[in-house]
Amino acid sequence: KAKVPSDIEIAMAQTPKPVAHLASELGLLPDELESYGKYKAKVELSVLDRLAHRKDGKYIVISGITPTPLGEGKSTTTIGLAQALGAHLERPAFACVRQPSQGPTFGIKGGAAGGGYSQVIPMDEFNLHLTGDIHAITAANNLLAAAVDARIFHEATQSDKALYSRLVPTKKGKREFAPLMFKRLKKLGIDKTNPNDLTPEEITRFARLDIDADTITWNRVIDTNDRFLRKITIGRNSTEQGHEREAGFDIAVGSECMAVLALTTGLEDMRERLGAMVVATSKQGDAVTADDIGVGGALAVLMKDTIKPNLMQSLEGTPVFVHAGPFANIAHGNSSILADRVALKLAGTEEGDPADRVGYVLTEGGFGADMGMEKFCNIKCRVSGLTPDAVVIVATTRALKMHGGGPDVTPGKALHETYTKENLGILKEGCGNLVRHIKNSRKFGLKVIVAINQFASDTSAELELVREQALAGGADAAIVSNHWAEGGAGARALAEAVVAACEGSSNFKFLYDLNIPIEEKISIISKEIYGADGIELSELARKQVDTYTRQGYGDLPICMAKTQYSFSHDPKLKGVPTGFTIPIRAVRLSAGAGFLYPILGDMQTMPGLGTRPGFWEVGLDPQTGKVVGLF
Ligand code: ADP
Repeated sequence: KAKVPSDIEIAMAQTPKPVAHLASELGLLPDELESYGKYKAKVELSVLDRLAHRKDGKYIVISGITPTPLGEGKSTTTIGLAQALGAHLERPAFACVRQPSQGPTFGIKGGAAGGGYSQVIPMDEFNLHLTGDIHAITAANNLLAAAVDARIFHEATQSDKALYSRLVPTKKGKREFAPLMFKRLKKLGIDKTNPNDLTPEEITRFARLDIDADTITWNRVIDTNDRFLRKITIGRNSTEQGHEREAGFDIAVGSECMAVLALTTGLEDMRERLGAMVVATSKQGDAVTADDIGVGGALAVLMKDTIKPNLMQSLEGTPVFVHAGPFANIAHGNSSILADRVALKLAGTEEGDPADRVGYVLTEGGFGADMGMEKFCNIKCRVSGLTPDAVVIVATTRALKMHGGGPDVTPGKALHETYTKENLGILKEGCGNLVRHIKNSRKFGLKVIVAINQFASDTSAELELVREQALAGGADAAIVSNHWAEGGAGARALAEAVVAACEGSSNFKFLYDLNIPIEEKISIISKEIYGADGIELSELARKQVDTYTRQGYGDLPICMAKTQYSFSHDPKLKGVPTGFTIPIRAVRLSAGAGFLYPILGDMQTMPGLGTRPGFWEVGLDPQTGKVVGLF
């Protein structure tokens, strides 16, 4: 059999069709498209109104077993399956994936366009700047960060009156409130429209946010794995008059602005969410929001174009929406609700359509099903009101072997023979991890299809063993799929299984109610999904839970920030760990995105670069100017 070329060689060898051509095949109108170069376009949200009468297509979430350094191929399977449904079974089929972060692209993982003959193209544009959404998010996040520190500085260095006359200056002999200021007056219960009518006491309350600098939760962000920015001291120049404080950077894709984009349902909703983002608590104990600081409108302006889903294509010319890119470990790990909605309408049916006109939307939930899928169900679906028809859990024999006790891998070193030769004992042991994810998915009432992503070295006895174990563990179907080597043709059987699974009705349900105490919600996820004995809150976490409950944020869903490498908080515990208690180090609030996120164990919100990052491979071909070395 011919050797499969590298991901970028395959991607570069295929000329994509012009995006306008792709869009017309999907039934999009020229007015609904905003091209970014030849092969990418943003799609206007007006399409949702035009197609509102359609019944949605089928909705499938793609997830995986607990990740290992050996890779499971979730993106590859999402694209391969979309190619099989779209180009081989000739059903309308959309893949909805996240925009990759430059952190992992130049760090450990490489790109995220899929691989082999199941990829999004052009893969270099997909993996790098796309249409600039992450840059816009970074700009918005950092404008708010700058506004917080500047505000604290100005409040500290000015009298109430001076502060007020600068916030509400006299123009042409008249003082006027900026439009956003009315929101703040309303929040303070001051029912006045003329700035001259405020009493001295009201002036103080209006002009002073009185941010308690120790409670600032708003970090700066950058889309680079820059570990030295995890903790920094800011304000060191003499012009800041000693207003130094410890601050930090997070990775841009872990930011709340990114989560807002992913979870928003429209422009107005995005504006409200951005304004509602909480940055700190005041000395009086109140939550301070972006709108209190006056920056909510500007954030919405910076992010206004990000809201339109980005259309690209697979190697076989089927549509792919690439929209929003929250990590699944420190964020909620799912592409946007809006892209899914647009795709579900484009894949949907109208009265009189034959039953087999119905299309399929495959949306990816990052990392293992304990992370991306759980958050897909409990957070994303709660906001969108959409209900999935099935989940696909991707597994590979090599990753299962690692869960069964296979040795660690060293990057750059040849793989141990456990992974390249038949080893049914270790593989069977490792299937426990897959079975746990199947049983977890069942708790949401989902149909479960296991996709066994085939590697060239897998033996038929190994593939059969995984199939048997998956079916015995409660999967509706378990299918070996060879889309990496063969493209959509290799995933035909998997596509047929998805079609069959979506035929019945779904019994989707959430894992927990929102109106129970925060701690109980964290405990339910920890016990039911991770298999923990319980949780243990640090003193800080307990204080934060009390503050957020008191401030009225207790009814939000939970977005666990946990290592992706284990069901537990300890990345070293593979397989199906038991007998552990999860330490909750801190609990943060994303009031605009609409969730609380507990930080489990040592989880960092800014990844680092290793000794030998992926960027060593990346460069430009001097002859053609094309990108080489992305994988
Ligand atoms: P995930 O989404 O689970 O992180 P990806 O789909 O990005 O994984 O795949 C990770 C890497 O593994 C890619 O470089 C891809 O080319 C490779 N890969 C995926 N499936 C296979 C396979 N069946 N055989 C060989 N390599 C594969």
